Amino acid sequence: METDLFLAWFEEAARLVRENRDRLNRLDAAIGDADHGTNLDRGLTEVLKALDDSPAGSPAEVLTTAGTTLIRRVGGASGPLYGSVFRQMGKSLETPVTLAGFATAFEEGVVAVERLGKAALGDKTMVDALAPASRALALAVRDGVGVRKGLDQAARAAVEGAKATIPMQARKGRASYLGERSIGHEDPGAASAALFLEALATVAA
Ligand code: ADP
Ligand code: MG
Repeated sequence: METDLFLAWFEEAARLVRENRDRLNRLDAAIGDADHGTNLDRGLTEVLKALDDSPAGSPAEVLTTAGTTLIRRVGGASGPLYGSVFRQMGKSLETPVTLAGFATAFEEGVVAVERLGKAALGDKTMVDALAPASRALALAVRDGVGVRKGLDQAARAAVEGAKATIPMQARKGRASYLGERSIGHEDPGAASAALFLEALATVAA
């Protein structure tokens, strides 16, 4: 997995988030403050600018630049949370990047966000899409499947994980203020996490 693939990942993620901005805002309107799509759209536009201004020489540098930019430029909770995933991945990733190396770095990224947000599986957050994706990647590595198929399985697991947040009651973030009224809506951060995984599977295909 080369630097260009990681650059293409963020370009496709920015495109997909823009395409889904209103849907993400609507999901956030139901259980939050209606800004998740706008936050991420703005953040990813800044990420593309930053990657343009200081070209990354390795996959790890792409991730570190993306993470730092999201932390600096996104006002909502999701900026620092996604930022921590990508910055940790940037720290963990060794070149050349294999699917196994990527899976390990991704897992460490998920651990970083769980720590920062004090969120676990079932709390109705982005973790509910990220952790199943990480598990799918680990299984793909164990089973010796290729990059394309492994990333595809991770993307599917993330989408399923996001859908599985619908019946959950939020225990973290703004949505938790709603208590039982948070039940019945997909978590916006889990939905955007699925978009990130989908973007990666698309550019790797
Ligand atoms: P804000 O809540 O500040 O408006 P966003 O709307 O951009 O920020 O992001 C909301 C998303 O962030 C939620 O849908 C959830 O997935 C995620 N989130 C919020 N708090 C946490 C947390 N403590 N741990 C993990 N994810 C969280
Ligand atoms: Mg919000």
